[in-house]
Amino acid sequence: MNLDKFPRYPLTFGPSPITPLKRLSAYLGGDVELYAKREDCNSGLAFGGNKTRKMEYLIPEAIEQGCDTLVSIGGIQSNQTRQVAAVAAHLGMKCILVQENWVDYADAVYDRVGNIELSRIMGADVRLDSAGFDIGIRASWKSAMEEAARDGGKPYPIPAGCSEHPYGGLGFVGFAEEVRQQEADLGFTFDYIVVCSVTGSTQAGMVVGFAADGRARRVIGIDASAKPEKTKAQILRIARHTAELVELGQEITEEDVVLDTRYAHPAYGLPNDGTLEAIRLCARHEGVLTDPVYEGKSMQGMIDMVRNGEFPKGSKVLYAHLGGAPALSAYSYIFRNG
Ligand SMILES: *Cc1c(COP(=O)(O)O)cnc(C)c1O
Repeated sequence: MNLDKFPRYPLTFGPSPITPLKRLSAYLGGDVELYAKREDCNSGLAFGGNKTRKMEYLIPEAIEQGCDTLVSIGGIQSNQTRQVAAVAAHLGMKCILVQENWVDYADAVYDRVGNIELSRIMGADVRLDSAGFDIGIRASWKSAMEEAARDGGKPYPIPAGCSEHPYGGLGFVGFAEEVRQQEADLGFTFDYIVVCSVTGSTQAGMVVGFAADGRARRVIGIDASAKPEKTKAQILRIARHTAELVELGQEITEEDVVLDTRYAHPAYGLPNDGTLEAIRLCARHEGVLTDPVYEGKSMQGMIDMVRNGEFPKGSKVLYAHLGGAPALSAYSYIFRNG
């Protein structure tokens, strides 16, 4: 495998820490040891997150092409667009963000606080669009690109979740390499890695990275899109493409993509009761915050699987905490009593 041939522009602090979730593990019976790899605090750029790690492999191309405007897209409370806004500010580039109506949720300040507030503070040109949830390429985004070019700028497109970008999977190949180094220091290896999936390049990169040591199927994706066929197909496609890029030297098969569909209900962006229980449990036992859109659902999945005895006794499970807490204030009504 060869990841090093791709230039990487540093946007993160370096390897993200791995911390034990001791009180949560004990609360759940102590038969499974839970750890978290903290992508949620991987950078000083507007709280960072998984898209910041992905962008480390996109930005060299943007710079090389002489681009001066980053253009991206997401839902109103998109973490991706907030991270793109931060990276643009950091690099002295302009930023256009198309923010669509991906979530049928009407907290009074949904389009004012959290991620979108931070993007506006960082100077991004934020455009609200009424289109609904879809992880593919959108017309509104194409027209933002054309407009940036018409104004004499040189736009660099960063698709939803970085996932349709040819290099979108590379960052999380690097995540697996990083975990292997950290395992050498810790003196043990993880049996399972739990990760939230929506646009797919996070899990796709991990599948490729962990395939290198035979653990592709130990990456347990938790779907949060509520459109799992589309997400699963996208993970497989990105994983295969990424495997070719890094010369993995083995086929990625459908069985290598494990996507659990039990926790995404009722819809993308909307928590179910189990999601809220998981968010509170993790917060109250660990002081670690997860959100109702993504990480609350993967936390819910991990907790549920421990309770069901789905991980063999003695397993060490690594929860990939991908970020997302800045969206919490957009859901303030749900948490008005804690
Ligand atoms: C984008 C995001 C995800 C999903 O990652 P994909 O690569 O889109 O599958 C999960 N958690 C958080 C916090 C995110 O921002």
